[in-house]
Amino acid sequence: MAVIKNIGLLATCKAKGAQSDIHPIKKAAVAFEGQRIAWVGQELKLPKKYQKEGSFDAGGCLVVPGLIDCHTHLAFAEFRDKEFEKKILGESYLDIAQAGGGILSTVNSTRKASAQKLIEHCLKYTAEMVELGITTIECKSGYGLSLNDELKILSVYSELNKAEQLDIVSTFMGAHTVPTEYKNNRSEYIKLICEEMLPMISEHGLASFCDVFVEDSAFTANEAKTIFKTSKKFGLLAKLHADQLTPSGGAELAASVGAVSADHLEYISKKGIEQMARKAVVAVMLPLASLYTHQPACNARKLIDGGVDVAVATDFNPGSAPSYHLPLAMMLSCNMNRMTPAEVLKGATINAAKALGLEKDRGSIEAGKLADFAFIDASDVNDWMYHFVPNACLATIKRGELIYSAE
Ligand SMILES: [Zn+2]
Repeated sequence: MAVIKNIGLLATCKAKGAQSDIHPIKKAAVAFEGQRIAWVGQELKLPKKYQKEGSFDAGGCLVVPGLIDCHTHLAFAEFRDKEFEKKILGESYLDIAQAGGGILSTVNSTRKASAQKLIEHCLKYTAEMVELGITTIECKSGYGLSLNDELKILSVYSELNKAEQLDIVSTFMGAHTVPTEYKNNRSEYIKLICEEMLPMISEHGLASFCDVFVEDSAFTANEAKTIFKTSKKFGLLAKLHADQLTPSGGAELAASVGAVSADHLEYISKKGIEQMARKAVVAVMLPLASLYTHQPACNARKLIDGGVDVAVATDFNPGSAPSYHLPLAMMLSCNMNRMTPAEVLKGATINAAKALGLEKDRGSIEAGKLADFAFIDASDVNDWMYHFVPNACLATIKRGELIYSAE
């Protein structure tokens, strides 16, 4: 049992109400027993039984739920910094992909890398994520694109979860792009996904979600439907990379297949917004990817006003979003996706939890939920998001344990 005292402002981020309502409590305290939160309220009202407990002194700072990055492609062999200049000088993502660069070059190097090498890379990233206040991340496969290499990447994520650093939620993304060897035989590759990869991944419990990149350079809506029909049978819930580079009906597809989230959405249609709201599909904003691909960012105002829950994530990957700095993505979402700091905070906590189907377990500071917290060196959320510093996180507590402290 432990208590966090002297919290200047506690952003509880409860789900109810508007996206902008972070349900703050001034001069707050939080008590937790083991991994779970037991009591939340004003410190003045802290029940007697917790008053003598060993405590963390928050020093009057802002305390928020442990941050959740609900969209990363964590395991890959090499960054694609060689493409950076080409992109700056005007070559498009699709041009680079069609010339054999892009995702396929990452596939080549990741296939050659051992699981151990990938784990070493990932641990370096996740250690720094912990220091930023992040406690849960979603990780996608999709740089293997063969049965063995997809299994290799997903088992890297299983190993990372055992490292007891961050909580990892795994997503199978064999449908990231069509690998070179199936270039002239797409239907065979989809058969491989449906008949070999999905059954094996399900049998070994290696993923919770199945994600498909619906785009001109990747998969059509019809191909995605076939894959989701099979993944559903194997108990994997749907996620989509949708409407990122062209308007491709991705949001509508996400609603029709009952996806948990649709991510990117730079080119979402009005109809897509209506259908996502109706089916409670979470929209995930990925401003780093918009920035690095020089796309106009999705205006989240039209989603929020249309009744869609909006999350914010990094899309950390070696090509179009080479940073795992979630607070940076949050600041960019304010400026590029037109979300207020409070909306962004809910986007990286409770709505990110919703995008992973974990909103009953984490994402807000409420009795019964996981004792995951980030201590932020700011007076309030506006101060935090506006005055961007390399790292405002003072301490990270995950499942009731202090896993990072700046001191
Ligand atoms: Zn992505």
